Amino acid sequence: MKRLILLALLALAQPALSETLAAKLFAAKTHPTTGPALPIGTYARGCAGGNVELPETGPTWQAMRLKRNRNWGNPVLVDYLEDLSQAVTAFGWKGLYIGDLGNPRGGPMVSGHASHQMGLDADVWFLPPARLDLTAQEREKIGAISIRSEDQKTVNENWNDSYRDVLKAAASDPRVDRIFVAAAIKLQLCKGATAADTAWLQHIRPEAAHQDHFHVRLKCPAGSDLCQTQKPNVTELSKGGSGCDDTLKYWVSNAYLHPKPNPNPTPKPHKKGPKEFTMADLPAQCAAVLKGK
Ligand SMILES: [Zn+2]
Repeated sequence: MKRLILLALLALAQPALSETLAAKLFAAKTHPTTGPALPIGTYARGCAGGNVELPETGPTWQAMRLKRNRNWGNPVLVDYLEDLSQAVTAFGWKGLYIGDLGNPRGGPMVSGHASHQMGLDADVWFLPPARLDLTAQEREKIGAISIRSEDQKTVNENWNDSYRDVLKAAASDPRVDRIFVAAAIKLQLCKGATAADTAWLQHIRPEAAHQDHFHVRLKCPAGSDLCQTQKPNVTELSKGGSGCDDTLKYWVSNAYLHPKPNPNPTPKPHKKGPKEFTMADLPAQCAAVLKGK
């Protein structure tokens, strides 16, 4: 009897086990779908039709880690990155080294990122380019640099004011929803900030890691009806201010960085991460994006 029950349970479990992970299905698509840009879902649970390629090299940028084939995004994102890479030349940077945007058709990824799924997120390296003629091989080897101290509380000796200029330009663009940086970097930006800085500082949000790159997240472009904006929005998050407050200071406190171990932790239920998503976890329209030409 026990054996029968076990067999029945196994039979039930089988379809779930054999279902291919969405991240694998999306990674297998080497090209985007044709047609208009179509971001679908949310930044961390979605996909994208009509993505375009950030060219591997341009006059003021290079895409890094080409082997991943993640230099694809919404046309608005690609335009934004090209514009920003041009703008930073005013601050003594030759341009930008640009990390992952997303898969050709967006979707969850087999490695890294929880978000970057709708073609509206991109990572930009905190490494002023020395050259913009790196070979594909060099782009696999070179790494970004950390501009945060070892204890995670301040910026380190790599910091200089050009980083402030770059982040201010990046966050002042109306296409941007928010930009994630390590808390210590935002604290540095807050030093000496005046009321004139509130608007752009509001868009810069503290996040774990992000000491060697900043993560740009764009708003849903106009007319993208299947794209869901993130809630709460940045104004709500920072209560209308710059976000240079005690909440930000908490991020670099010992209480946050070195919490006392809890002797009786309550076990948390497992929450499915994007790497475990199947197509059933994504908006229904993503199946058409995956199948599309
Ligand atoms: Zn990112």
